[in-house]
Amino acid sequence: MDKKQNIKELSYQELSEYLSSIGEPAFRAKQLWQWLWQKNVTGFDQMTNLSKKLRARLKEDFVFEPVEIYSYQQSPTDQTIKYTFRLKGNHLVEGVLIPSRSSERVTACISTQVGCPLGCKFCATGTMGLKRNLHAYEIYDHLWLLNQQSQKHFGRKLTNIVVMGMGEPLLNLDNVLLALDIITSDQGLGMSPQRITLSTVGMVKELYRLADMKPKFNLAVSLHSAIDEVRSGIMPVNKSNPLPDLVKALKYFHKQTGKRITFEYLMLAGVNDSIKDAKALADFTRNFPSKINLIEYNETPHSIFRKSPPERVREFVNFLENRNLVVTVRRSKGSDIAAACGQLVKITDRNKQLFNFDHLKPENKNIS
Ligand code: SF4
Repeated sequence: MDKKQNIKELSYQELSEYLSSIGEPAFRAKQLWQWLWQKNVTGFDQMTNLSKKLRARLKEDFVFEPVEIYSYQQSPTDQTIKYTFRLKGNHLVEGVLIPSRSSERVTACISTQVGCPLGCKFCATGTMGLKRNLHAYEIYDHLWLLNQQSQKHFGRKLTNIVVMGMGEPLLNLDNVLLALDIITSDQGLGMSPQRITLSTVGMVKELYRLADMKPKFNLAVSLHSAIDEVRSGIMPVNKSNPLPDLVKALKYFHKQTGKRITFEYLMLAGVNDSIKDAKALADFTRNFPSKINLIEYNETPHSIFRKSPPERVREFVNFLENRNLVVTVRRSKGSDIAAACGQLVKITDRNKQLFNFDHLKPENKNIS
């Protein structure tokens, strides 16, 4: 017997064609699409403006495989909430809600792959390897759930999205773009693309492809060093995407989109935090309008790196500011619950590596 198809894997066009093939009028496609994406229902019986006959037919032909919240944990220090979501096949990914204390902003950090194949040395996700890409609907659905949770816990909808969770988005570009299309569409969440930032390690070939689509969302590049040997040492992907090629691709991206590029730079003691490193960073980022985010490294019990001492960070910032570069220093939120940059990892893997995580089990969620 054929396995039924997941209805959320159909495009609008495919859904329209299916409905017309069973004799339904054209406007049904819009109704059905709104139930699937805007209202994000998880069963055909909830589609109350469709006839019983049509709902029964849909049940015969399709299934739902909804993304579910598996566990969650809130930081007592900054209120950041980390969620683990269960996907089809019992795969787990993480997403994070980051409220701002000083503004109405709530940012969601979302994932695009189960694990990641790129193995950056400072990143917990990289230790998992790649299990699989997320489908577009899985990216959309965990963001949709985060939006609901934001209203529940912080009394407001999401204001910003960063595609910076588990995985390298440019290695799952088609699904990421499809999900972002629906997230920004009026038939989905209607969010402004100006409030979305996609973060990549800088996959050169995919950057050209993305540039040609002239996206309206923002681009961040996890740079972490502007010296090839240093970057290759901490990010193996740099060997096949070296900095001279990355500069050319980013110049092209800027030419096509007119967008300023944000560079993320983890401050690692003795690795990339000398004045020589700052000079290389200044020279690299001068190639396009840019902004630099220096990020405090989150040490874990098994970290092979240490965070740069405050005085070293100050010298680094002074050097860049004296060259008129725009620099901010960010303390990653959620570091006490392993929700910060580079700390997201499927909890069963983290358990093996780091902690006893009994407190994360669903029957013992520590917030409600
Ligand atoms: S930093 Fe990003 S690209 Fe690198 S291993 Fe982690 S998830 Fe993958």
